[in-house]
Amino acid sequence: MEKTIRASVIGLTKRKQTWLDADYNNYQWWMIFGIDHGLLSAFKAAKGFKQKVIKYKSYPLLLQSRFIKDWFRVRETKLTKHWIKIPNSKRKGQGIWLPLHFHQPLPKRYSLKDSYLIRKNEKYYVHFCMDIPEQHVYAPKTILGIDLGLKNPVTMVDLRTKTTRFLGKKLKHIKGKYYYLRKQLGQQKKFQIIKKIKNKERRKVHAQLHAVSKYIIHEAQKKKAAIVLGALHNLQKNKGRTFNRKLSGFSHYKLTQLVMYKAKERGVPLITVSEAFTSKTCSVCGTPGTRTKNWFVCSCGYRDNADRNAAFNIGKRGLSYMLGLGVVASAQKSSTLRVNPYQPTLERVNSDEQMRGQAQKPLLVT
Ligand SMILES: [Zn+2]
Repeated sequence: MEKTIRASVIGLTKRKQTWLDADYNNYQWWMIFGIDHGLLSAFKAAKGFKQKVIKYKSYPLLLQSRFIKDWFRVRETKLTKHWIKIPNSKRKGQGIWLPLHFHQPLPKRYSLKDSYLIRKNEKYYVHFCMDIPEQHVYAPKTILGIDLGLKNPVTMVDLRTKTTRFLGKKLKHIKGKYYYLRKQLGQQKKFQIIKKIKNKERRKVHAQLHAVSKYIIHEAQKKKAAIVLGALHNLQKNKGRTFNRKLSGFSHYKLTQLVMYKAKERGVPLITVSEAFTSKTCSVCGTPGTRTKNWFVCSCGYRDNADRNAAFNIGKRGLSYMLGLGVVASAQKSSTLRVNPYQPTLERVNSDEQMRGQAQKPLLVT
């Protein structure tokens, strides 16, 4: 799988800065107007950069793997131990050595792909694209059903032990706090500050999403569990509801993406199922029940936190999906795990073929 590892270019001398600027500026001229001020052919190969320019506000310089892969090295110096040599038009045949500071640890094994040199706020960064070997996916011993909701951002249940975790409380708190702040500032017409706190909010939310997804993956690894996520296709329905502004569907989407990515990275089995009816169906008897505020009540006598009930339904749907594939997951041994007879035929909403392939892998274990 591919991973992007970011590094800052540090301790640039005036000379190196000038050389880099020259090529970077030339490249902008070339990409925008097709004007060539002596750009190296090494940099001309870039295609399909339209999206990158929106993200980085300039065209990042493509560092082709064939030019950098032998020149990304460990050199123990005072400044840093990571260095990369890149081609430069002012230093033909020699290139420039750039000292790097990595923002995260390098993976143990990787192969370097085409990467990018990016200038942002007068500083340079290298985004290394790496191909890292995929982890072996383990055979699940239980299932973690995860419901992403509004009242409780993340509800995670273990189908075997029935333990429940409500996660992401801070997320809700952040959203609520900043919503209130923005509203106040809006009345005072302080739009500059609104913009500033929006960025701050985004960073905080991002950090929380990372923390929550990390926790989910960690729990799954510890329990050797498969993760079952409800696919987010009916979020639109909730639009306009009070809680929606506090925890937007976007965060749900982002969290799903993070969990899926991390699961893949760590070899945690994960499947997504349709979440249709999961909040309206009883997770014990499978008939439709009634939801009053945060409580789910069924005529069979079952009464539970509504998000918890939904998370169980999602988990069970994941289980029946696995069983439907003719596979005996060890979780099945537990007599409390029953496939819900009410549930309609499972939709295979997972559009990502790779994730599907990955989900099936543990099921083939004998
Ligand atoms: Zn019931």
